[in-house]
Amino acid sequence: MKSNVYFIRVDSQDNSQRIKSLQKFLDKLGHVLTYQKEEFVPVKITIGDTSCVYNIKPEFVRCIITHIKNQQARPFLFDTNVIYLGQRQNAIQHLNLAQNKGFAHSRVGAPFIIADGIFGQDGREFKINSANVNKIKVPSFVGMLDSLLVLSHATGHILSGYAGAIKNVAMGMSCRPTKQTIHSLLKPHILTDRCTTCRCCIAICPKGAISYKDSKVSIDPTKCIGCAECLCACKFNAISINWQEEPLVFIRRLVEVANFILSKFKNKFFINFAFDITKECDCISTKDEKMIVDDLGIFASDDIVAVDKATVDMAKNYKRMPLLDQTEKIYTEMFLYAQRIGMGSAEYSLIQL
Ligand code: SF4
Ligand code: SF4
Repeated sequence: MKSNVYFIRVDSQDNSQRIKSLQKFLDKLGHVLTYQKEEFVPVKITIGDTSCVYNIKPEFVRCIITHIKNQQARPFLFDTNVIYLGQRQNAIQHLNLAQNKGFAHSRVGAPFIIADGIFGQDGREFKINSANVNKIKVPSFVGMLDSLLVLSHATGHILSGYAGAIKNVAMGMSCRPTKQTIHSLLKPHILTDRCTTCRCCIAICPKGAISYKDSKVSIDPTKCIGCAECLCACKFNAISINWQEEPLVFIRRLVEVANFILSKFKNKFFINFAFDITKECDCISTKDEKMIVDDLGIFASDDIVAVDKATVDMAKNYKRMPLLDQTEKIYTEMFLYAQRIGMGSAEYSLIQL
């Protein structure tokens, strides 16, 4: 069965125009984006890492928080800590960064919470016994609240080619051990004929898994957690993974984790912001990042698969999206696998508002 995906075109780079479009969108979505009086409404966001400037802006978040508060519900913003180096590796620096990037309570209208504790270890464990994941650890409110609103910035991604709502839920709503489980099959290796021994990868590896010895750089697979940071750091394409196998397992784990988390919420809604669409996701991108497609607009649905599929389809059809063939295979598998295990529908009706 087809799911409804709501869409508004936004092609202005001016933030005040974008906010007007978002406001119009929210007004028209009124009938589907509803909450009970006094209910807690977790709103998933990602503030992006220190150098990222293209994350969802605090002003957009404020519009959405106001929409929820107008219904006398109790929204709060949340994210979890990441597994790679940077200011979002622990709650203290993560919260400081949020303040610096404009996500203070006074600006967005709601508190921002790091939902997996100071070091990304606090949460509840669930046995999920899916095809590729046995158990997961997630913030403890998962299973306690009815509603979930997920705000995602649509971007490219080093492994999956596309990052949107599915990745935001799977990676962004799991504690660090589960993030590592999702990544753990990704064991990169060095292509020595291309390696310049610049050692940028050594500096960025969070586990000290890469070393330089006898004029050669190598990766110790027993230390590697598969975070893929080194792939991003190498400017010489000298780090590789098995593109035929490993990203496909990564993507299936991602889908299985997201599917379980979403099964714990009754009232789910997903909003994708498809402008400033950078080649890398908000964890990696910088102000110099190249856009891989022109601005599209805002997509929303209660079906996570449909909203991501609609975003990718328009990106591919509307303007250039030079994703590699190998990553197209991967994100296509993400949608098909998600549909197969019942997370949502890859078929949708696009309703332009
Ligand atoms: S970043 Fe790339 S080129 Fe530099 S040492 Fe690592 S693998 Fe070699
Ligand atoms: S070797 Fe690469 S993938 Fe493995 S932990 Fe280090 S940075 Fe992450």
